[in-house]
Formats: sequence, structure tokens, C-alpha cells
Amino acid sequence: MKTCLQILWILGSVIEVTFIAVVLAVLFSLCVAAQSQTVPAEVKQAIAVSLKASNTDGIHEEGGIWGMDTLGKLLVIPAKPGKSHPVCTEGAVTISPGDAADPSLDANLKTIDGQWHVHPRATRQKDTYHLCYFVQPPSKEDIESAMDGEINLVIGAGDGNVYYYSTKGVTGKISYQEFLK
Ligand SMILES: [Zn+2]
Repeated sequence: MKTCLQILWILGSVIEVTFIAVVLAVLFSLCVAAQSQTVPAEVKQAIAVSLKASNTDGIHEEGGIWGMDTLGKLLVIPAKPGKSHPVCTEGAVTISPGDAADPSLDANLKTIDGQWHVHPRATRQKDTYHLCYFVQPPSKEDIESAMDGEINLVIGAGDGNVYYYSTKGVTGKISYQEFLK
């Protein structure tokens, strides 16, 4: 009888541990999903286009903003591409996500919900012995110019991560593949 109770106790412990593990796994996936779901599918498509465009030479930024138009519909506004930086200069590559490639789209924009830009992936030759890389996470300038209350995204084309940030710093990071789900 005692052995039987012991077996039941062990079974109970195993079931409990399994249950907790399942609950944690579900909560974890919900957290990841919640973070990526706040970005509409149309915006993710526009981000994919930006990433592809930045990757054509790997040395310039692409980006954009999204929000609601005057009719309450989602409006995605891609920005003009940033300048290409073929040499390792002191200055950072930049882009203004709000500088619309098609300024006529701005006329209907009522609220801004978020912005994104791509950090390029290429490595460049600094001199005979040194390479330089584009910073992948949000830069100090990005963080300083983040729009609080909106979604701020940097897509690291080189490291395959999507960074969420605010004026307080990086608030989240998921892989680009996870982000697209
Ligand atoms: Zn940046």
C-alpha cells in the first residue's frame, strides 16, 4: 500500500511539473505572439519590401511609418531610401522614416502608430586590415528620436533580428522569422 501511494505521489509530481511546463510554454508563445501581432500584416509586408530594397546593396537604410487615415483605415507610408554609404565613415547611415517616398500619401494620414527602418547588412573595407559593420540594434540617435506611445522598430538586416525600442532603450527583440508569423 505504501509503495502504491509513493507511485501515486511520484505520478502526481510528474503531472504537476508537466502541467506547469505546458502552461509556461503557452504563456511564452502568447507573449511572443502578442508582441509581433501589434504590427499589422500589411506593415510586415512593407517591412519585407524595405528589407529586400536595403539588401540590394546592403549599405543603405530603408524605412517608413504607418497609422490610420482620415477614414480610420490602416495607411502604410514607405520612406525615401537613405543614402548609400560605401566607405566606413565616422558618420552613421541615416534615414527619416517619416520622409515619404510618395508625399501625397501624407495628406490622408491622421494618426501615426509606428515607424520602422532597416539597418544594413553589408560589411565594408575600412582599410587593408579592417572591416567595419553597420550597428544592428537601435542606435543612440534612434533611441533618442523614438516616438513614445508608438511602435518603434529597427530591422537588423545583418543579424536577422527585429528590435522594439522606446526612448528608454530596447524593449524587445525577436527573430525576423518569428516577427513575420
Ligand atoms: Zn537606426
